[in-house]
Amino acid sequence: MGHVHSDQIASVERDDAPHEECGVFGVWAPGEDVSKLTYFGLFALQHRGQEGAGIAVGDRENIVVFKDTGLVSQVFDQSVLDALQGDVAIGHTRYSTAGGENWENVQPMFRTSPNGTDVALAHNGNLTNYQELQDNAIERGLIPARGVEGQGSSSDTAVVSALLTDEIRGEASLLDAARTVLPTVQGAFCFMFTDGHTLYAARDAHGVRPLCLGRLERGWVVASETCALDIVGATHVRDIEPGELITIDESGVHTERFASTPRAHCVFEYVYVARPDSVIEGRSVHASRIEIGRRLARIEPVEADLVMPVPESGTPSAIGYAEESGIPFKQGLMKNAYVGRTFIQPSDTLRQLGLRLKLNPVREIIEGKKLVVVDDSIVRGNTQRKLIKMLREAGAAEVHVRIASPPVKWPCFYGIDFASPGELIANNGGGVDEAATVESIRTMIGADSLAFVPTDDMIAATKQPAETLCAACFTGNYPLGLPEGNPNADLVRRMQKGDN
Ligand code: SF4
Repeated sequence: MGHVHSDQIASVERDDAPHEECGVFGVWAPGEDVSKLTYFGLFALQHRGQEGAGIAVGDRENIVVFKDTGLVSQVFDQSVLDALQGDVAIGHTRYSTAGGENWENVQPMFRTSPNGTDVALAHNGNLTNYQELQDNAIERGLIPARGVEGQGSSSDTAVVSALLTDEIRGEASLLDAARTVLPTVQGAFCFMFTDGHTLYAARDAHGVRPLCLGRLERGWVVASETCALDIVGATHVRDIEPGELITIDESGVHTERFASTPRAHCVFEYVYVARPDSVIEGRSVHASRIEIGRRLARIEPVEADLVMPVPESGTPSAIGYAEESGIPFKQGLMKNAYVGRTFIQPSDTLRQLGLRLKLNPVREIIEGKKLVVVDDSIVRGNTQRKLIKMLREAGAAEVHVRIASPPVKWPCFYGIDFASPGELIANNGGGVDEAATVESIRTMIGADSLAFVPTDDMIAATKQPAETLCAACFTGNYPLGLPEGNPNADLVRRMQKGDN
């Protein structure tokens, strides 16, 4: 993702949901249509970023990059893909925060090294030592000093791209450069890069974001999620290990380690980010969400007529809740599947008129019923408040909200864009008293009752050992530490001191 500051974050109009910051896809398959394979892979990863997309294709001689802002289907057409011919390709879908919707920040990044090697690089995640890396790149004259306008991108991806290519001097190869640079990069990252001949993929030492390896009949695929392997007909071989660098060329897949530290897989991938048909670290995302719903039904039962999901990501947990409680499951909210973030934004006047771009209630199902409404998470609470109002207007007798994750109290510095700490609804009342916090959120969103799944139950549903997961946005316990020079991180430090 692009490196942004909180004042920029606050100035952007966003919808209420958390956003993942990017999906990556790479393919090494001479003789196959690598650009179309990448296009379809990105299509499956569209949920991980909807503001920009790009593909870099290498034919051993040259790398050609095509990228733009917009959805994958808007950026590419048949003639563009036909022109992108080669043996190896990497692709990227991007969700950008403020200032990031400009072309320079769309990935893959392209740069030529001092010895003339072309390198394309794509990144999913967020670096915690960005400032140190940026200082280093500025000192070496690789990127413009801060505050110099109009001189291209200085996102964390651009900084790593600059540092990596600068190491390719004399006889040094991209692999040599990766061995030098990767151990110096801290934070959450999945990098995919190529010199037009070989495909490289690296996952950070903690394995925060998912990354998996797939096999084609005549080649290999690496992707953020297994759903992108499925779409191109690749078999899931395994997940890339934390701290692993893999190299793919005509001699096959080679692996090496550049770091080794305890794992910290993002638990939020299981709860919200990943597609339910993906499998992460051997655990089905769908099965995790069903299990969370079952646990919620046992821990937080309620008398009701119907269990209803907030589509799409609340659906599996609502199914689990219904199965365990015996309350019938019905879909009383219809989602418009074609709303993307690059859709024409409605004016404030239209919003005030109650424009319903995303969800519309089905009165027939809702009227006179006591509802259990299951959603994946509450971040700022605006969505839930509007939704409950909408359900009451459609005749709901009672609205009981069950949330398939604990309250989000802390910002993520590892690749998910939540609101800043002050905007998180869980920080807006109740203080450290958990029950008072839940009660104040219930009042704010206007529900008859509200309950969250406890952290331990959410973790148990993923079937991953607790010590291998990051759950910092719920607990404030940051396994990769906090970034320097970031106002939100300074705020967290102050909040942690206040709590102690
Ligand atoms: S802070 Fe939350 S969203 Fe960020 S990596 Fe950790 S669990 Fe995932």
